[in-house]
Amino acid sequence: MAKAKTKTKSKAKTKAIAPMFGRVAFIGIGLIGASMALAMRRAGLVGTVVACARKPKTRQTALDLGIANEVTKDYAKAVVGADLVVIATPVGTNGAIAKAIAAHLKPGAIVTDVGSVKQAVVDAVAPHLPKNVHFVPGHPIAGTEHSGPEAGFAELFDNRWTILTPLPRTSAKATAKVADMWRKMGANVANMQPEHHDMVLAITSHLPHLIAYTIVGTASDLSGDLKQEVIKYSASGFRDFTRIAASDPTMWRDIFLNNREAVLEILQRFTEDLTAMQRIIRKGDGPALEDTFTRGRAIRRGIIEAKQA
Ligand code: NAP
Repeated sequence: MAKAKTKTKSKAKTKAIAPMFGRVAFIGIGLIGASMALAMRRAGLVGTVVACARKPKTRQTALDLGIANEVTKDYAKAVVGADLVVIATPVGTNGAIAKAIAAHLKPGAIVTDVGSVKQAVVDAVAPHLPKNVHFVPGHPIAGTEHSGPEAGFAELFDNRWTILTPLPRTSAKATAKVADMWRKMGANVANMQPEHHDMVLAITSHLPHLIAYTIVGTASDLSGDLKQEVIKYSASGFRDFTRIAASDPTMWRDIFLNNREAVLEILQRFTEDLTAMQRIIRKGDGPALEDTFTRGRAIRRGIIEAKQA
């Protein structure tokens, strides 16, 4: 009896558990694509990773760092036989990529993306995809100001949110599988309508980046000596803005071009609030200043309590 037990145990030990996705193709293997590949490997979710990038250096780095098993510069070749295709390039490229890969996708494959804008990506990608593949648009709310595969790390999504914006026709099973994948990669998952996502991100991410780029731009327009002093004496305020403003220019160009309406609406509200602050300072209204700053502090406390600091 005891012998039989041991035999069953060792049999179970040698039985390989199939990963969630046998073959995953990343179109774009920068900060987000590489971090996803590493997080998927950490969780044992993937067999073979194929990475597609334009630059030979990017492809070589993906191989050297063990992020990808195979690399190619050909979008169509990359997706052949893939169970999951992740589009992780600047959002302005997503429509052309969907068009190029459409005819080569495996029937039943899942296509997802990581774009920081959702409605424009849905509009650009969905019309190209065949009916026998499942499109589950997504956006991990995690990142750094660094770019390229060398910037990727497996822990990037731990305890961060990923928002999925499935289409009405997206199969619930495919959406659940992508959600499960993100949870196993360490993230929390929420579903949203794409246009609602774009409005939320306009305030939490796009406007702060616009302000950072503008403040740093104002400083860089200063004349010689003054500009040098800004750099030399940059206290935490300005320094923090420069970190945000170091983010990839192409990626951010595409975000503003593809989330125009939501950004303009939030910018209008912000401009009104800024004008109100101007008036408060001109009037020397101390209590109003203190009230605004106290509300700011409370928001920061809320972010810390939600463990998103
Ligand atoms: P990244 O580090 O700059 O990597 C971009 C990747 O896309 C590279 O592999 C690059 O290949 C490729 N690529 C760039 N332009 C391309 C083009 N015109 N055609 C084909 N491939 C192109 O960027 P990332 O930070 O990973 O961002 C990728 C996506 O994630 C973006 O859509 C962004 O909105 C989204 N996102 C970013 C963050 C963040 O904080 N960075 C957070 C959440 C979501 P080469 O190296 O060969 O050029």
